[in-house]
Amino acid sequence: MRILIAEDDQVLADGLLRSLRTSGAVVDHVANGAEADTALVTHNHFDLLILDLGLPRIHGLEVLRRLRSRGDSLPVLILTARSSWHEKVTGMDAGADDYLAKPFHMEELLARLRALLERGRTFNSAGDKASARTLF
Ligand code: CA
Repeated sequence: MRILIAEDDQVLADGLLRSLRTSGAVVDHVANGAEADTALVTHNHFDLLILDLGLPRIHGLEVLRRLRSRGDSLPVLILTARSSWHEKVTGMDAGADDYLAKPFHMEELLARLRALLERGRTFNSAGDKASARTLF
């Protein structure tokens, strides 16, 4: 299981990295939209993307739009500021699978990621069911 986190808040990113790695995931972290875009173009081996929308250099929404315009169906959970309800709507329209408003409880994030992975597996072969089941 390989997860990409695009988040410029270092404290939040550190917490995410710690929790996800403890859960057994391999996690990459980028701190701006340009690096996120490059990582997504260069590597197609991610199973999940956690995408902050308020990213420097390239906005998270644009990162998401580019991903989807390449025909990539990678499951994406977007992180938004609590007050930016319109960003959630725009994000879902741009192809996000789920969203979470900050601040959030780590347990809720993990539960949403599990649900995303469950949904994704419906469309995959039975091959990696065992490994996905052991995550989180
Ligand atoms: Ca941010």
